[in-house]
Amino acid sequence: MDWMPADRSKDLRDSLTFFLFVAITALSLSFTFSVFVYKTGLMADSQNFLLTNLVVAACVAIPTATIASQHEFQMRRYQRQLESFASTDPLTGVLNRRFFRFAVEEEIARQGRTRAVAALALIDLDRFKTINDRYGHQAGDEVLKRVALAVHAEIRTPFDKFGRWGGEEFALMLSDVTEATAQIVLERVRSRLERTPVKVGNHEIPVTASFGFALMDANAVFDDVMASADEALYRSKAAGRNCITFTGKARRAA
Ligand code: GH3
Ligand code: MG
Ligand code: MG
Repeated sequence: MDWMPADRSKDLRDSLTFFLFVAITALSLSFTFSVFVYKTGLMADSQNFLLTNLVVAACVAIPTATIASQHEFQMRRYQRQLESFASTDPLTGVLNRRFFRFAVEEEIARQGRTRAVAALALIDLDRFKTINDRYGHQAGDEVLKRVALAVHAEIRTPFDKFGRWGGEEFALMLSDVTEATAQIVLERVRSRLERTPVKVGNHEIPVTASFGFALMDANAVFDDVMASADEALYRSKAAGRNCITFTGKARRAA
């Protein structure tokens, strides 16, 4: 699973631009050189020289540009792969902790311009240790992957950001929401998880999660909002799990 869109057509477009750039530069240089020779009359048969020079330049420029643009395309692919490795959690394919934080901080900066409000939610699977103990660690891993898919199905990518915060805990940022709309989205996620047991081998493993969320605006500090969401999550656990708790007031930018 890979949440980073693999934009192959953009890579191809960029490589084609690169190809044209190399080819046109080589041909222009050759043409300028030929005109120079023609004008100065350095060669007796300079008209013929001009034509030959252009043909030879084209024969050299086109393969060179092709090889160079292929190389460029490969480098872009490697770069994209490296970005993907660096930013995603290897088990679930969602953003890793560092990149989730990075995405949220970018959103806070954007909110400075748009004055929008976002919600930050922590999602912690209920009694996950029991799932591991009862069905095995591999089944536990499978549950984590399916939960990631289920949450992803309910959010608006790429506007909302979703990451694995650690262990069996996920973090979700819903951009441009109010407390009420965040509550609705999280309720959709909560009920989807509750409704869909994870099939592993012959087992149907019931999964529920507890949620805590806080709102954040342009004045928000990431660690403070996370602490608020964590406090709300703690309250959801204390209230019996499989529920959503909101805490934290959205502070308006002055
Ligand atoms: P609670 O409802 O209070 O959250 O209980 P819990 O059992 O979910 O919480 P606890 O923190 O006691 O246990 C979390 C478990 O998650 C323990 C750990 O072994 C397991 N875990 C953490 N990361 C992974 C992982 O990558 N794969 C698997 N299979 N298990 C993991
Ligand atoms: Mg848990
Ligand atoms: Mg936990």
